[in-house]
Amino acid sequence: MSTPAGNFIHDIIDADLESGKRSEVVTRFPPEPNGYLHIGHAKAICLDFGTALKYNGRCHLRFDDTNPTAEDTEYVEAIKEDVHWLGFDWGEHLYWASDYFEQMYEYAVQLIKQGKAYVCDLSVDAFKEYRGIPTEPGKEPEGRQRSIEENLELFEKMKAGEFADGAYVLRARIDMASPNLHMRDPAIYRIKHASHHNTGDQWCIYPMYDFAHCIEDSIEGVTHSLCTLEFEVHRPLYDWILKELEAYQPQQIEFARLNLTYTVMSKRKLLELVQKNLVNGWDDPRMPTLCGMRRRGYPAQAIRNFCTEIGITKTESLSDVALLEHHVRDILNEKAPRRMAVLDPLKVVITNYPEEQTETFDLPNHPNNEEVGTRSVPFTRELFIEKSDYLEDAPNKYKRFTIGREVRLRGAYLATCNEAIKDADGNVIELRCTIDPESKGGSAPDGRKVKGTIHWVSATEGVEATVHLYDRLFGCENPAAEEADFKELLNPESLQTVTGIVEPEAISQPGEAFQFERIGYFCIDKDSTADVPVLNRTVGLRDSWNK
Ligand code: ATP
Ligand code: MG
Ligand code: MG
Repeated sequence: MSTPAGNFIHDIIDADLESGKRSEVVTRFPPEPNGYLHIGHAKAICLDFGTALKYNGRCHLRFDDTNPTAEDTEYVEAIKEDVHWLGFDWGEHLYWASDYFEQMYEYAVQLIKQGKAYVCDLSVDAFKEYRGIPTEPGKEPEGRQRSIEENLELFEKMKAGEFADGAYVLRARIDMASPNLHMRDPAIYRIKHASHHNTGDQWCIYPMYDFAHCIEDSIEGVTHSLCTLEFEVHRPLYDWILKELEAYQPQQIEFARLNLTYTVMSKRKLLELVQKNLVNGWDDPRMPTLCGMRRRGYPAQAIRNFCTEIGITKTESLSDVALLEHHVRDILNEKAPRRMAVLDPLKVVITNYPEEQTETFDLPNHPNNEEVGTRSVPFTRELFIEKSDYLEDAPNKYKRFTIGREVRLRGAYLATCNEAIKDADGNVIELRCTIDPESKGGSAPDGRKVKGTIHWVSATEGVEATVHLYDRLFGCENPAAEEADFKELLNPESLQTVTGIVEPEAISQPGEAFQFERIGYFCIDKDSTADVPVLNRTVGLRDSWNK
Protein backbone atom coordinates (compact mmCIF):
# COMPACT_ATOMS: atom_id res chain seq x y z
CA MET A 1 0.00 0.00 0.00
CA SER A 2 1.22 3.49 -0.76
CA THR A 3 1.77 5.88 2.13
CA PRO A 4 -1.43 7.52 3.37
CA ALA A 5 -1.66 11.20 2.49
CA GLY A 6 -1.85 12.14 6.18
CA ASN A 7 -4.19 14.48 7.96
CA PHE A 8 -3.17 18.10 8.43
CA ILE A 9 -6.21 18.74 10.64
CA HIS A 10 -4.87 16.40 13.29
CA ASP A 11 -1.68 18.44 13.33
CA ILE A 12 -3.74 21.56 14.03
CA ILE A 13 -5.67 19.81 16.81
CA ASP A 14 -2.46 18.49 18.36
CA ALA A 15 -1.16 22.06 18.51
CA ASP A 16 -4.47 23.38 19.92
CA LEU A 17 -4.43 20.82 22.72
CA GLU A 18 -0.80 21.40 23.47
CA SER A 19 -1.10 25.19 23.62
CA GLY A 20 -4.22 24.96 25.78
CA LYS A 21 -6.33 26.74 23.18
CA ARG A 22 -8.72 23.79 23.49
CA SER A 23 -9.04 21.22 26.21
CA GLU A 24 -11.32 18.78 24.38
CA VAL A 25 -12.29 17.84 20.84
CA VAL A 26 -15.89 18.15 19.67
CA THR A 27 -16.74 17.69 15.99
CA ARG A 28 -19.98 17.31 14.09
CA PHE A 29 -21.24 15.73 10.92
CA PRO A 30 -24.01 18.02 9.61
CA PRO A 31 -25.90 16.46 6.69
CA GLU A 32 -28.82 18.22 5.15
CA PRO A 33 -31.60 15.61 4.98
CA ASN A 34 -32.24 16.20 1.29
CA GLY A 35 -30.66 13.10 -0.21
CA TYR A 36 -28.80 9.92 0.53
CA LEU A 37 -25.21 9.90 1.69
CA HIS A 38 -22.51 9.16 -0.85
CA ILE A 39 -18.86 8.18 -0.72
CA GLY A 40 -17.93 11.89 -0.45
CA HIS A 41 -19.90 12.08 2.77
CA ALA A 42 -18.06 8.97 3.92
CA LYS A 43 -14.83 10.97 3.76
CA ALA A 44 -16.40 13.63 6.00
CA ILE A 45 -17.91 11.03 8.35
CA CYS A 46 -14.59 9.20 8.74
CA LEU A 47 -12.90 12.52 9.44
CA ASP A 48 -15.51 13.90 11.85
CA PHE A 49 -16.16 10.72 13.81
CA GLY A 50 -12.63 9.40 13.40
CA THR A 51 -11.18 12.61 14.82
CA ALA A 52 -13.50 12.48 17.84
CA LEU A 53 -12.47 8.86 18.46
CA LYS A 54 -8.79 9.64 18.10
CA TYR A 55 -8.95 12.44 20.68
CA ASN A 56 -11.43 10.74 22.97
CA GLY A 57 -13.90 13.53 22.28
CA ARG A 58 -17.34 13.41 20.73
CA CYS A 59 -18.92 13.84 17.34
CA HIS A 60 -22.47 15.11 16.94
CA LEU A 61 -24.77 13.94 14.23
CA ARG A 62 -26.65 17.10 13.40
CA PHE A 63 -29.36 17.32 10.80
CA ASP A 64 -28.97 20.64 9.11
CA ASP A 65 -32.66 21.11 8.48
CA THR A 66 -32.93 24.85 8.06
CA ASN A 67 -34.39 24.73 4.57
CA PRO A 68 -38.00 23.57 4.92
CA THR A 69 -38.68 22.77 1.29
CA ALA A 70 -35.82 20.52 0.20
CA GLU A 71 -35.93 18.16 3.13
CA ASP A 72 -37.63 14.91 3.77
CA THR A 73 -37.75 12.64 6.81
CA GLU A 74 -37.25 9.64 4.49
CA TYR A 75 -33.64 10.73 4.28
CA VAL A 76 -33.18 11.06 8.02
CA GLU A 77 -33.50 7.33 8.71
CA ALA A 78 -31.37 6.47 5.71
CA ILE A 79 -28.60 8.79 6.88
CA LYS A 80 -28.61 7.29 10.37
CA GLU A 81 -28.48 3.79 8.94
CA ASP A 82 -25.56 4.69 6.69
CA VAL A 83 -23.51 6.30 9.47
CA HIS A 84 -24.04 3.23 11.65
CA TRP A 85 -23.19 0.92 8.80
CA LEU A 86 -19.94 2.79 8.19
CA GLY A 87 -19.08 1.90 11.77
CA PHE A 88 -19.69 5.13 13.68
CA ASP A 89 -22.02 6.09 16.49
CA TRP A 90 -23.16 9.49 17.75
CA GLY A 91 -24.43 8.05 21.04
CA GLU A 92 -26.56 10.69 22.78
CA HIS A 93 -25.48 13.40 20.42
CA LEU A 94 -28.20 13.63 17.83
CA TYR A 95 -29.23 17.22 17.10
CA TRP A 96 -31.51 19.19 14.81
CA ALA A 97 -30.58 22.63 13.57
CA SER A 98 -34.27 23.50 13.61
CA ASP A 99 -34.30 23.09 17.39
CA TYR A 100 -32.28 26.29 17.51
CA PHE A 101 -34.68 28.45 15.46
CA GLU A 102 -35.78 30.42 18.52
CA GLN A 103 -32.19 31.09 19.58
CA MET A 104 -31.23 32.03 16.02
CA TYR A 105 -34.10 34.46 15.86
CA GLU A 106 -33.03 36.07 19.13
CA TYR A 107 -29.49 36.37 17.84
CA ALA A 108 -30.82 38.06 14.71
CA VAL A 109 -32.73 40.56 16.85
CA GLN A 110 -29.56 41.12 18.86
CA LEU A 111 -27.63 41.97 15.70
CA ILE A 112 -30.33 44.44 14.65
CA LYS A 113 -30.16 46.08 18.07
CA GLN A 114 -26.38 46.36 17.73
CA GLY A 115 -26.86 48.08 14.39
CA LYS A 116 -25.26 45.05 12.72
CA ALA A 117 -28.24 43.87 10.70
CA TYR A 118 -30.96 45.55 8.66
CA VAL A 119 -34.02 44.68 6.66
CA CYS A 120 -33.61 45.05 2.91
CA ASP A 121 -36.22 44.92 0.18
CA LEU A 122 -33.87 44.32 -2.75
CA SER A 123 -34.57 41.18 -4.76
CA VAL A 124 -31.75 38.66 -5.09
CA ASP A 125 -30.93 39.92 -8.58
CA ALA A 126 -31.19 43.57 -7.64
CA PHE A 127 -28.84 43.03 -4.72
CA LYS A 128 -26.27 41.41 -7.01
CA GLU A 129 -26.08 44.77 -8.82
CA TYR A 130 -25.41 46.55 -5.54
CA ARG A 131 -22.94 43.95 -4.39
CA GLY A 132 -20.87 44.38 -7.55
CA ILE A 133 -17.49 42.81 -8.27
CA PRO A 134 -14.61 42.06 -5.88
CA THR A 135 -12.24 44.65 -7.33
CA GLU A 136 -14.60 47.62 -6.91
CA PRO A 137 -16.61 48.72 -3.90
CA GLY A 138 -20.33 47.90 -4.09
CA LYS A 139 -23.26 50.28 -3.67
CA GLU A 140 -25.05 50.66 -0.36
CA PRO A 141 -28.68 49.47 -0.36
CA GLU A 142 -31.05 52.23 0.78
CA GLY A 143 -32.31 50.13 3.70
CA ARG A 144 -28.84 50.24 5.22
CA GLN A 145 -29.66 53.66 6.67
CA ARG A 146 -32.92 52.60 8.32
CA SER A 147 -33.14 53.11 12.06
CA ILE A 148 -32.78 50.25 14.51
CA GLU A 149 -36.41 50.71 15.62
CA GLU A 150 -37.65 50.53 12.06
CA ASN A 151 -35.58 47.41 11.40
CA LEU A 152 -36.89 45.72 14.52
CA GLU A 153 -40.42 46.53 13.48
CA LEU A 154 -39.95 45.24 9.92
CA PHE A 155 -38.25 42.06 11.11
CA GLU A 156 -41.13 41.49 13.53
CA LYS A 157 -43.56 41.85 10.64
CA MET A 158 -41.49 39.43 8.54
CA LYS A 159 -41.80 36.94 11.36
CA ALA A 160 -45.53 37.62 11.78
CA GLY A 161 -46.14 36.62 8.17
CA GLU A 162 -47.12 40.05 6.88
CA PHE A 163 -44.97 39.86 3.76
CA ALA A 164 -44.76 37.56 0.79
CA ASP A 165 -41.76 35.33 0.09
CA GLY A 166 -38.88 37.41 -1.21
CA ALA A 167 -40.36 40.79 -0.22
CA TYR A 168 -37.64 41.38 2.37
CA VAL A 169 -34.52 39.77 3.74
CA LEU A 170 -32.50 40.50 6.83
CA ARG A 171 -28.90 41.40 5.99
CA ALA A 172 -25.82 41.50 8.14
CA ARG A 173 -24.36 45.00 7.96
CA ILE A 174 -20.70 44.33 7.31
CA ASP A 175 -18.78 45.97 4.50
CA MET A 176 -20.09 46.76 1.01
CA ALA A 177 -16.48 47.32 -0.11
CA SER A 178 -14.99 44.04 1.14
CA PRO A 179 -12.94 42.20 -1.50
CA ASN A 180 -14.75 39.07 -0.26
CA LEU A 181 -18.25 39.24 -1.73
CA HIS A 182 -19.61 37.04 1.06
CA MET A 183 -18.84 39.90 3.44
CA ARG A 184 -20.86 42.44 1.47
CA ASP A 185 -23.97 42.53 3.61
CA PRO A 186 -25.03 38.90 3.14
CA ALA A 187 -28.64 37.87 3.69
CA ILE A 188 -29.04 36.04 7.00
CA TYR A 189 -32.83 35.56 7.13
CA ARG A 190 -35.39 35.15 4.39
CA ILE A 191 -39.14 34.84 4.19
CA LYS A 192 -40.42 31.43 3.21
CA HIS A 193 -44.03 30.49 3.81
CA ALA A 194 -43.48 26.76 4.07
CA SER A 195 -44.20 24.07 6.63
CA HIS A 196 -41.21 22.57 8.32
CA HIS A 197 -41.06 18.89 9.24
CA ASN A 198 -40.05 19.76 12.80
CA THR A 199 -41.52 23.18 13.55
CA GLY A 200 -44.62 22.98 11.35
CA ASP A 201 -46.03 26.43 10.57
CA GLN A 202 -44.44 28.14 13.53
CA TRP A 203 -42.00 30.03 11.31
CA CYS A 204 -42.26 31.76 7.98
CA ILE A 205 -38.75 33.17 8.20
CA TYR A 206 -35.77 30.86 8.02
CA PRO A 207 -32.08 31.52 8.67
CA MET A 208 -29.63 31.33 5.78
CA TYR A 209 -26.92 28.66 5.91
CA ASP A 210 -24.07 31.02 6.84
CA PHE A 211 -25.96 32.47 9.76
CA ALA A 212 -27.33 29.17 10.98
CA HIS A 213 -24.28 26.97 10.74
CA CYS A 214 -21.89 28.91 12.94
CA ILE A 215 -24.61 29.34 15.56
CA GLU A 216 -25.36 25.61 15.54
CA ASP A 217 -21.68 24.84 16.04
CA SER A 218 -21.40 27.44 18.77
CA ILE A 219 -24.46 26.29 20.73
CA GLU A 220 -23.21 22.72 20.67
CA GLY A 221 -19.71 23.61 21.82
CA VAL A 222 -18.06 22.26 18.69
CA THR A 223 -14.32 22.88 18.87
CA HIS A 224 -13.32 22.08 15.32
CA SER A 225 -15.90 22.53 12.59
CA LEU A 226 -14.58 20.58 9.62
CA CYS A 227 -15.99 21.35 6.20
CA THR A 228 -15.07 21.28 2.55
CA LEU A 229 -12.93 23.87 0.78
CA GLU A 230 -15.76 25.82 -0.82
CA PHE A 231 -16.54 27.19 2.66
CA GLU A 232 -13.12 28.79 3.04
CA VAL A 233 -14.46 32.10 1.66
CA HIS A 234 -17.37 31.89 4.10
CA ARG A 235 -15.10 31.59 7.12
CA PRO A 236 -14.72 35.35 7.70
CA LEU A 237 -18.51 35.55 7.91
CA TYR A 238 -18.65 32.55 10.28
CA ASP A 239 -16.16 34.28 12.55
CA TRP A 240 -17.77 37.73 12.20
CA ILE A 241 -21.24 36.56 13.25
CA LEU A 242 -20.04 34.77 16.39
CA LYS A 243 -17.74 37.62 17.31
CA GLU A 244 -20.52 40.21 17.02
CA LEU A 245 -22.82 37.98 19.06
CA GLU A 246 -20.05 37.42 21.61
CA ALA A 247 -20.83 33.72 21.34
CA TYR A 248 -18.51 30.78 21.86
CA GLN A 249 -16.28 30.48 18.81
CA PRO A 250 -15.46 27.12 17.22
CA GLN A 251 -12.71 26.96 14.62
CA GLN A 252 -13.74 26.19 11.08
CA ILE A 253 -11.16 24.20 9.11
CA GLU A 254 -11.59 23.35 5.46
CA PHE A 255 -10.37 20.26 3.58
CA ALA A 256 -10.60 19.09 -0.02
CA ARG A 257 -13.76 17.26 -0.94
CA LEU A 258 -13.63 13.78 -2.38
CA ASN A 259 -14.16 13.38 -6.09
CA LEU A 260 -14.10 9.93 -7.60
CA THR A 261 -13.50 8.81 -11.18
CA TYR A 262 -16.35 7.44 -13.32
CA THR A 263 -19.08 8.90 -11.16
CA VAL A 264 -20.77 12.13 -10.09
CA MET A 265 -21.12 13.19 -6.50
CA SER A 266 -23.61 16.02 -6.47
CA LYS A 267 -26.86 15.17 -4.71
CA ARG A 268 -28.77 17.10 -7.33
CA LYS A 269 -27.35 14.96 -10.13
CA LEU A 270 -27.82 11.73 -8.21
CA LEU A 271 -31.44 12.68 -7.54
CA GLU A 272 -31.94 13.30 -11.24
CA LEU A 273 -30.61 9.84 -12.09
CA VAL A 274 -33.09 8.36 -9.64
CA GLN A 275 -36.06 10.46 -10.72
CA LYS A 276 -35.48 9.82 -14.41
CA ASN A 277 -35.12 6.08 -13.78
CA LEU A 278 -31.64 6.06 -15.23
CA VAL A 279 -30.70 3.91 -12.26
CA ASN A 280 -32.86 1.67 -10.09
CA GLY A 281 -33.15 3.91 -7.05
CA TRP A 282 -30.72 5.48 -4.59
CA ASP A 283 -29.41 2.07 -3.61
CA ASP A 284 -28.71 0.93 -7.15
CA PRO A 285 -25.36 -0.87 -6.79
CA ARG A 286 -23.86 1.40 -9.46
CA MET A 287 -24.54 4.53 -7.44
CA PRO A 288 -21.77 6.17 -5.37
CA THR A 289 -24.22 6.25 -2.45
CA LEU A 290 -23.39 4.34 0.70
CA CYS A 291 -26.61 2.33 0.41
CA GLY A 292 -25.68 1.50 -3.19
CA MET A 293 -22.19 0.40 -2.20
CA ARG A 294 -23.59 -1.64 0.68
CA ARG A 295 -26.03 -3.37 -1.67
CA ARG A 296 -23.19 -4.02 -4.07
CA GLY A 297 -21.27 -5.78 -1.34
CA TYR A 298 -18.59 -3.21 -0.49
CA PRO A 299 -17.46 -3.82 3.08
CA ALA A 300 -17.65 -0.71 5.28
CA GLN A 301 -14.09 -1.42 6.36
CA ALA A 302 -12.90 -1.07 2.75
CA ILE A 303 -14.48 2.38 2.53
CA ARG A 304 -12.85 3.43 5.79
CA ASN A 305 -9.46 2.13 4.64
CA PHE A 306 -9.85 4.00 1.36
CA CYS A 307 -10.65 7.23 3.22
CA THR A 308 -7.61 6.78 5.43
CA GLU A 309 -5.36 6.20 2.45
CA ILE A 310 -6.49 9.25 0.47
CA GLY A 311 -6.00 11.32 3.61
CA ILE A 312 -7.07 14.86 4.37
CA THR A 313 -5.47 17.65 2.37
CA LYS A 314 -6.15 21.15 1.10
CA THR A 315 -5.80 20.26 -2.58
CA GLU A 316 -8.76 19.31 -4.73
CA SER A 317 -8.18 16.12 -6.65
CA LEU A 318 -9.91 13.27 -8.36
CA SER A 319 -9.43 9.96 -6.58
CA ASP A 320 -9.22 6.82 -8.65
CA VAL A 321 -12.13 4.42 -8.13
CA ALA A 322 -9.60 1.65 -8.79
CA LEU A 323 -8.07 2.50 -5.39
CA LEU A 324 -11.44 2.05 -3.70
CA GLU A 325 -11.90 -1.26 -5.54
CA HIS A 326 -8.42 -2.27 -4.47
CA HIS A 327 -9.46 -1.85 -0.83
CA VAL A 328 -12.69 -3.75 -1.47
CA ARG A 329 -10.70 -6.67 -2.90
CA ASP A 330 -8.21 -6.46 -0.09
CA ILE A 331 -10.91 -7.09 2.53
CA LEU A 332 -12.90 -9.59 0.48
CA ASN A 333 -9.89 -11.62 -0.54
CA GLU A 334 -9.21 -12.24 3.11
CA LYS A 335 -12.78 -12.68 4.32
CA ALA A 336 -14.93 -13.96 1.48
CA PRO A 337 -15.55 -17.72 1.33
CA ARG A 338 -14.86 -19.35 -2.02
CA ARG A 339 -17.70 -20.76 -4.09
CA MET A 340 -18.16 -21.94 -7.66
CA ALA A 341 -20.54 -20.50 -10.23
CA VAL A 342 -20.82 -20.66 -13.98
CA LEU A 343 -22.08 -17.48 -15.61
CA ASP A 344 -21.94 -18.50 -19.27
CA PRO A 345 -22.83 -22.18 -19.09
CA LEU A 346 -21.72 -24.99 -21.41
CA LYS A 347 -22.99 -28.46 -20.57
CA VAL A 348 -20.52 -31.27 -19.94
CA VAL A 349 -21.56 -34.93 -19.80
CA ILE A 350 -19.17 -37.29 -18.03
CA THR A 351 -19.85 -40.40 -20.07
CA ASN A 352 -18.13 -42.81 -17.70
CA TYR A 353 -19.98 -41.53 -14.61
CA PRO A 354 -23.22 -43.26 -13.52
CA GLU A 355 -26.41 -41.36 -14.25
CA GLU A 356 -28.00 -41.69 -10.82
CA GLN A 357 -24.92 -40.98 -8.80
CA THR A 358 -24.21 -37.85 -6.75
CA GLU A 359 -21.11 -37.60 -4.64
CA THR A 360 -19.97 -34.64 -2.66
CA PHE A 361 -16.53 -33.16 -2.38
CA ASP A 362 -15.41 -31.14 0.60
CA LEU A 363 -13.79 -28.06 -0.80
CA PRO A 364 -11.99 -25.50 1.36
CA ASN A 365 -13.90 -22.28 2.01
CA HIS A 366 -10.66 -20.37 1.82
CA PRO A 367 -7.30 -21.28 0.29
CA ASN A 368 -5.22 -19.70 3.08
CA ASN A 369 -7.42 -20.11 6.11
CA GLU A 370 -8.19 -23.64 7.22
CA GLU A 371 -10.11 -22.36 10.22
CA VAL A 372 -13.09 -21.40 8.10
CA GLY A 373 -13.51 -25.05 7.12
CA THR A 374 -14.96 -26.65 4.06
CA ARG A 375 -18.28 -26.92 2.32
CA SER A 376 -19.60 -29.85 0.37
CA VAL A 377 -20.06 -29.50 -3.35
CA PRO A 378 -22.18 -32.01 -5.28
CA PHE A 379 -20.69 -33.70 -8.34
CA THR A 380 -22.89 -35.42 -10.94
CA ARG A 381 -22.72 -36.88 -14.44
CA GLU A 382 -23.93 -33.62 -15.97
CA LEU A 383 -22.07 -30.46 -15.17
CA PHE A 384 -21.76 -26.91 -16.40
CA ILE A 385 -18.50 -25.17 -17.17
CA GLU A 386 -17.86 -21.73 -18.68
CA LYS A 387 -18.10 -21.57 -22.45
CA SER A 388 -14.73 -19.85 -22.43
CA ASP A 389 -13.15 -22.97 -20.91
CA TYR A 390 -13.42 -24.83 -24.22
CA LEU A 391 -11.66 -23.91 -27.43
CA GLU A 392 -11.83 -25.89 -30.65
CA ASP A 393 -8.51 -24.91 -32.22
CA ALA A 394 -6.60 -24.43 -29.05
CA PRO A 395 -2.92 -23.49 -29.06
CA ASN A 396 -0.61 -25.61 -26.93
CA LYS A 397 -0.45 -23.09 -24.15
CA TYR A 398 -4.24 -23.17 -23.73
CA LYS A 399 -4.65 -25.10 -20.48
CA ARG A 400 -8.40 -25.63 -20.61
CA PHE A 401 -10.59 -28.04 -22.59
CA THR A 402 -10.05 -28.89 -26.22
CA ILE A 403 -10.52 -32.29 -27.80
CA GLY A 404 -8.11 -34.78 -26.28
CA ARG A 405 -6.90 -32.50 -23.46
CA GLU A 406 -7.07 -33.37 -19.79
CA VAL A 407 -7.89 -30.67 -17.21
CA ARG A 408 -8.66 -30.66 -13.52
CA LEU A 409 -12.24 -30.09 -12.45
CA ARG A 410 -11.53 -28.09 -9.32
CA GLY A 411 -11.43 -30.36 -6.26
CA ALA A 412 -13.10 -33.29 -8.05
CA TYR A 413 -11.47 -35.25 -10.88
CA LEU A 414 -9.16 -35.03 -13.82
CA ALA A 415 -11.29 -35.08 -16.95
CA THR A 416 -10.51 -35.51 -20.63
CA CYS A 417 -12.61 -33.93 -23.33
CA ASN A 418 -13.44 -36.45 -26.07
CA GLU A 419 -16.12 -34.89 -28.16
CA ALA A 420 -17.91 -31.60 -28.79
CA ILE A 421 -21.56 -31.68 -29.85
CA LYS A 422 -22.66 -28.82 -32.11
CA ASP A 423 -26.01 -27.39 -33.11
CA ALA A 424 -27.10 -26.82 -36.73
CA ASP A 425 -25.20 -23.51 -36.80
CA GLY A 426 -21.99 -25.11 -35.67
CA ASN A 427 -22.07 -23.75 -32.11
CA VAL A 428 -20.70 -26.07 -29.46
CA ILE A 429 -23.59 -26.95 -27.15
CA GLU A 430 -22.20 -29.85 -25.16
CA LEU A 431 -18.94 -31.58 -24.35
CA ARG A 432 -18.52 -35.31 -23.78
CA CYS A 433 -15.78 -36.08 -21.33
CA THR A 434 -14.46 -38.94 -19.26
CA ILE A 435 -12.93 -38.72 -15.82
CA ASP A 436 -10.08 -40.71 -14.39
CA PRO A 437 -11.83 -42.41 -11.43
CA GLU A 438 -8.43 -42.74 -9.71
CA SER A 439 -7.95 -38.98 -9.61
CA LYS A 440 -10.53 -38.24 -6.94
CA GLY A 441 -9.86 -34.85 -5.34
CA GLY A 442 -8.01 -33.69 -8.41
CA SER A 443 -4.58 -35.30 -8.33
CA ALA A 444 -3.31 -38.03 -10.62
CA PRO A 445 -2.26 -41.30 -8.94
CA ASP A 446 0.73 -41.64 -11.29
CA GLY A 447 1.84 -38.07 -10.65
CA ARG A 448 1.24 -36.91 -14.25
CA LYS A 449 1.09 -33.16 -14.63
CA VAL A 450 -2.22 -31.53 -15.42
CA LYS A 451 -1.77 -27.81 -15.53
CA GLY A 452 -5.24 -26.48 -16.15
CA THR A 453 -7.87 -26.25 -13.43
CA ILE A 454 -11.37 -25.02 -14.19
CA HIS A 455 -14.46 -24.48 -12.08
CA TRP A 456 -17.73 -26.33 -12.59
CA VAL A 457 -21.21 -26.70 -11.16
CA SER A 458 -23.47 -29.74 -11.15
CA ALA A 459 -26.19 -29.30 -13.77
CA THR A 460 -28.70 -31.18 -11.68
CA GLU A 461 -27.77 -29.98 -8.16
CA GLY A 462 -26.71 -26.45 -9.07
CA VAL A 463 -29.14 -23.55 -8.68
CA GLU A 464 -30.13 -21.04 -11.32
CA ALA A 465 -29.55 -17.45 -10.28
CA THR A 466 -30.01 -14.03 -11.78
CA VAL A 467 -26.62 -12.39 -11.73
CA HIS A 468 -26.09 -8.66 -12.09
CA LEU A 469 -22.71 -7.78 -13.52
CA TYR A 470 -22.10 -4.18 -12.60
CA ASP A 471 -19.62 -1.92 -14.25
CA ARG A 472 -18.84 1.80 -13.94
CA LEU A 473 -21.85 4.06 -14.10
CA PHE A 474 -20.16 6.54 -16.44
CA GLY A 475 -18.10 5.93 -19.54
CA CYS A 476 -15.64 8.74 -18.87
CA GLU A 477 -13.29 9.45 -15.99
CA ASN A 478 -14.65 12.78 -14.87
CA PRO A 479 -18.22 13.29 -16.07
CA ALA A 480 -18.61 16.45 -13.99
CA ALA A 481 -15.83 18.12 -15.99
CA GLU A 482 -17.31 17.38 -19.43
CA GLU A 483 -19.31 19.90 -21.40
CA ALA A 484 -21.99 17.39 -22.34
CA ASP A 485 -25.00 16.80 -20.12
CA PHE A 486 -23.87 14.24 -17.55
CA LYS A 487 -26.82 12.00 -18.40
CA GLU A 488 -25.43 11.57 -21.92
CA LEU A 489 -22.23 10.18 -20.48
CA LEU A 490 -23.65 7.14 -18.72
CA ASN A 491 -21.96 3.86 -19.55
CA PRO A 492 -24.59 1.89 -21.54
CA GLU A 493 -22.98 -1.34 -20.35
CA SER A 494 -22.96 -0.53 -16.65
CA LEU A 495 -25.41 -3.35 -15.96
CA GLN A 496 -25.43 -6.71 -17.64
CA THR A 497 -27.81 -9.34 -16.32
CA VAL A 498 -27.15 -13.02 -16.94
CA THR A 499 -28.56 -16.29 -15.67
CA GLY A 500 -25.86 -18.31 -14.00
CA ILE A 501 -25.68 -21.66 -12.26
CA VAL A 502 -24.24 -21.61 -8.77
CA GLU A 503 -23.36 -24.30 -6.28
CA PRO A 504 -26.16 -24.68 -3.70
CA GLU A 505 -24.01 -23.32 -0.88
CA ALA A 506 -23.64 -19.95 -2.62
CA ILE A 507 -27.18 -18.86 -1.95
CA SER A 508 -27.64 -20.17 1.56
CA GLN A 509 -26.59 -17.06 3.47
CA PRO A 510 -28.34 -13.83 2.51
CA GLY A 511 -26.14 -10.76 2.56
CA GLU A 512 -23.01 -12.86 2.52
CA ALA A 513 -20.12 -11.91 0.31
CA PHE A 514 -18.15 -14.59 -1.47
CA GLN A 515 -15.69 -15.13 -4.23
CA PHE A 516 -16.77 -17.12 -7.22
CA GLU A 517 -13.49 -18.70 -8.13
CA ARG A 518 -11.86 -17.31 -11.24
CA ILE A 519 -14.68 -14.76 -11.66
CA GLY A 520 -14.96 -12.19 -8.92
CA TYR A 521 -16.57 -11.18 -5.66
CA PHE A 522 -20.34 -11.40 -5.33
CA CYS A 523 -23.04 -10.95 -2.76
CA ILE A 524 -26.66 -11.91 -2.44
CA ASP A 525 -28.92 -9.02 -3.37
CA LYS A 526 -31.51 -7.78 -0.91
CA ASP A 527 -34.29 -8.70 -3.38
CA SER A 528 -33.08 -12.28 -3.68
CA THR A 529 -35.56 -15.05 -2.82
CA ALA A 530 -35.25 -18.81 -2.53
CA ASP A 531 -37.16 -19.16 -5.79
CA VAL A 532 -35.29 -16.51 -7.69
CA PRO A 533 -31.84 -15.99 -6.22
CA VAL A 534 -30.29 -12.68 -7.24
CA LEU A 535 -26.57 -12.03 -7.01
CA ASN A 536 -24.59 -8.84 -7.47
CA ARG A 537 -21.04 -8.71 -8.70
CA THR A 538 -19.22 -6.54 -6.19
CA VAL A 539 -15.96 -6.36 -8.11
CA GLY A 540 -13.95 -8.52 -10.49
CA LEU A 541 -10.79 -10.31 -9.44
CA ARG A 542 -8.25 -8.33 -11.38
CA ASP A 543 -6.82 -5.37 -9.57
CA SER A 544 -6.22 -2.44 -11.90
CA TRP A 545 -4.78 -0.25 -9.16
CA ASN A 546 -1.17 0.73 -9.90
CA LYS A 547 0.64 1.32 -6.69
P1 ATP B 1 -24.35 18.41 -2.30
O1 ATP B 1 -23.39 19.55 -2.52
O2 ATP B 1 -24.11 17.23 -3.16
O3 ATP B 1 -25.76 18.85 -2.19
P2 ATP B 1 -23.70 18.74 0.43
O4 ATP B 1 -22.26 18.88 0.53
O5 ATP B 1 -24.48 20.00 0.48
O6 ATP B 1 -24.02 17.87 -0.85
P3 ATP B 1 -24.48 17.93 3.03
O7 ATP B 1 -25.59 17.06 3.42
O8 ATP B 1 -24.55 19.36 3.38
O9 ATP B 1 -24.30 17.74 1.48
O10 ATP B 1 -23.11 17.33 3.51
C1 ATP B 1 -22.82 17.01 4.85
C2 ATP B 1 -21.34 17.09 5.07
O11 ATP B 1 -20.65 16.24 4.17
C3 ATP B 1 -20.83 18.49 4.83
O12 ATP B 1 -20.05 18.88 5.93
C4 ATP B 1 -20.01 18.39 3.58
O13 ATP B 1 -18.92 19.25 3.62
C5 ATP B 1 -19.59 16.92 3.55
N1 ATP B 1 -19.41 16.49 2.18
C6 ATP B 1 -20.35 16.48 1.21
N2 ATP B 1 -19.81 16.06 0.04
C7 ATP B 1 -18.51 15.78 0.28
C8 ATP B 1 -17.42 15.31 -0.52
N3 ATP B 1 -17.56 15.03 -1.81
N4 ATP B 1 -16.21 15.12 0.08
C9 ATP B 1 -16.06 15.38 1.39
N5 ATP B 1 -17.04 15.84 2.19
C10 ATP B 1 -18.25 16.03 1.65
MG1 MG C 1 -24.69 21.25 2.42
MG1 MG D 1 -23.24 21.27 -1.29
